[in-house]
Amino acid sequence: MKTNIKTSSKGIKNIPFLDLKLINRPYEKGINAALKNAVASGWFILGDEVKKFEKTFAEFCRVKHCIGVANGLDALVLLLKASNFPPDSEIIVPSNTYIASILAVTLAGFKPILVEPDLDTYLIDPAKIEEKITRNTKAILVVHLYGKCCDMESVMRVAHRYDLKVFEDAAQAHGAIYQGKRAGNLADGAGFSFYPTKNLGAMGDAGAITTNDDALAERLRAKRNYGSGKKYVFDYQGLNSRLDELQATILNVKFPHLESENFIRQKIANRYLSEINNTKIILPPADTANQDAWHLFVVRVENRDKFRKYLTDNGIGSDIHYPIAPHKQLAYREWNNRTFPIAEQIHEEIVSIPLNVVLSEKEVSYIIEKINKY
Ligand SMILES: *Cc1c(COP(=O)(O)O)cnc(C)c1O
Repeated sequence: MKTNIKTSSKGIKNIPFLDLKLINRPYEKGINAALKNAVASGWFILGDEVKKFEKTFAEFCRVKHCIGVANGLDALVLLLKASNFPPDSEIIVPSNTYIASILAVTLAGFKPILVEPDLDTYLIDPAKIEEKITRNTKAILVVHLYGKCCDMESVMRVAHRYDLKVFEDAAQAHGAIYQGKRAGNLADGAGFSFYPTKNLGAMGDAGAITTNDDALAERLRAKRNYGSGKKYVFDYQGLNSRLDELQATILNVKFPHLESENFIRQKIANRYLSEINNTKIILPPADTANQDAWHLFVVRVENRDKFRKYLTDNGIGSDIHYPIAPHKQLAYREWNNRTFPIAEQIHEEIVSIPLNVVLSEKEVSYIIEKINKY
């Protein structure tokens, strides 16, 4: 038996789902050098590195404003809080998402209204939004889950009809393109996360908000910094949610490689899409006109535990994003008796297979071969 790649003593390959040490290794030297300068500068809050990152990321998304914040959850909370909706406002969010999207609505003081996803795309189903709109509905928070942009054309059409704001949870979609525009530039405002595992990841918590709305951007700049536009003058009751200067330093080193890394992700995803041909495995849809950020490659399979055990036995790491639907979490116990059948089915059947920039072609071939033999 040929033992070419990472073969353990038992002859089983070991392909981790994600190895953060390995994915950051190419940037280690650059980051260490940049951090040394940042430390020597003696300026640790809202300095030149944060400014540089905000400018770069705004240009990348082709938006007027980027406001660095402490993390992705705060980005969404601040966006909603700065929108000045009345206290009893309802915000539409998908029932199939990472809990942060829903928590953001609650933490901002509003009521999340869950809308089911499309089973094939895993994304909010625009056809199901209208029936959930009431007099109190003020906004739709879409989530570009797993790196694929939502059907924004349909979402914007409904929003326009009812005069609703639309915000993007773009925490998994750095660099994704929808009809020629980047995620972060598809609606009234967007929240990004630079949590270490994201397509652009810091080495700690970090986030950002993008928007083309000048007045909203000005409020957000103050609100992430105690509500202060001018030192010791407070116009709002804000948060302390600034993008850390050292995390911005790291992001500035890694950012220039985001697009080439996304391209590697696309290549791997395209191989999975064209070469996995096991009828037991339901693949995600290919991106046709648009460009997916391929944060995760999520398949559906009937007996998930059995499939994951098979992968583990063959040395292939996997993960579940996410195992329990938000409305089934104790955090939202008041919703535990409600049913969102599509979100529930997705949460029961999904498995994320390795998709990251350090996978070799041989490893991808090995994963495809093993999945086809399942
Ligand atoms: C990661 C993530 C967030 C939250 O980001 P943090 O930086 O961890 O707060 C929000 N929404 C989605 C969809 C995410 O994947």
